[in-house]
Amino acid sequence: MSTPKINAAFYRGNRQFVVEQIEAAPPAAGQARLRIAYCGICGTDMHVFHGNMDARVGTNRTIGHEMSATVESVGEGVSQDLVGQNVVVRPLDPCGNCPACKAGHSHICHNQKFLGLDTDGAMQELWNVPAHTLHKLPDGLRLDHAALIEPVAVACHDVRMSGLKAGEDVVVIGGGPIGILVAMVARDAGGNVVISEVNPNRLAIAQKLGFDTVNPAEVDLKEEINARTGTKGADVVFEVSGTQPGVDAMTAVAATRARIVMVAIHAKKPEIDMFQFFWRELQLIGARVYEPEDYEKAIAIIASGGVDAETIITDVAPLSDIQAAFEALDSSPTAMKSLIKVGADA
Ligand SMILES: [Zn+2]
Ligand SMILES: [Zn+2]
Repeated sequence: MSTPKINAAFYRGNRQFVVEQIEAAPPAAGQARLRIAYCGICGTDMHVFHGNMDARVGTNRTIGHEMSATVESVGEGVSQDLVGQNVVVRPLDPCGNCPACKAGHSHICHNQKFLGLDTDGAMQELWNVPAHTLHKLPDGLRLDHAALIEPVAVACHDVRMSGLKAGEDVVVIGGGPIGILVAMVARDAGGNVVISEVNPNRLAIAQKLGFDTVNPAEVDLKEEINARTGTKGADVVFEVSGTQPGVDAMTAVAATRARIVMVAIHAKKPEIDMFQFFWRELQLIGARVYEPEDYEKAIAIIASGGVDAETIITDVAPLSDIQAAFEALDSSPTAMKSLIKVGADA
């Protein structure tokens, strides 16, 4: 197996990326070597950039997991049929032995290794991954659009966990990249979706995508949702904002026996109106990453145009400009999803 020289971006701590030439390791047994086409910048990657995850990722790490690629070669024990296939990676490498794995919930393995954080990731031209993480892409699916599959799979998991049925009223609290994707997947599933968001740029993007929006800084969200639902409230609420006002809103807008899905990562413990859980028999559902079926659903939705990839992808930059791309996401008011074009041509 050859060891070609490739470009790889390294996070070196203190908001710095350095692109260097390295020798690509050959794929080990059970691995596939991928030629990366595109890699999206995740909110988690921004946390790395800001130095909030140095204890976990270190300061010599190639990050990136929202990727698309073509299989370049395979290691021992992996089917040669994969070579030449366009793929995405479900970036989870569970232990197989913990109580979560044994109960069939390996996506939330107690010892989960998340590829691109706990291991090197996709911001490099060639990336070796366990072959069990691969999902094949259908012919004709553009590789830039395919870089959205990982975050769309998050949204697919959130919507599946909510048990959303066609015709139900949905409120998505928070219209950032994940909130918008949750809204799109919920709409694709037949939900009547309203997005609550305070940022005017994000409101504009949500409206461009055809969503009803409410700005809770300007109107009372509970009154607005009550008015739209004949005082019933929302059957399904997604809390994506990660804020105390968002948590206050999630119970305020909830219908009788509503399901509230906690999508956001709350760094601080919020105050929750537990009385409403008693009074309206609400359910609170945790949802984290994705399972294989969520990936297959995400691939199908993107292939069918159920997610407007052209509007979601607001920026594309070459790997050599990774530093500027991360810096721009800190300051750009209009950015939604930025992609790094890792490969020379795709
Ligand atoms: Zn991500
Ligand atoms: Zn496990």
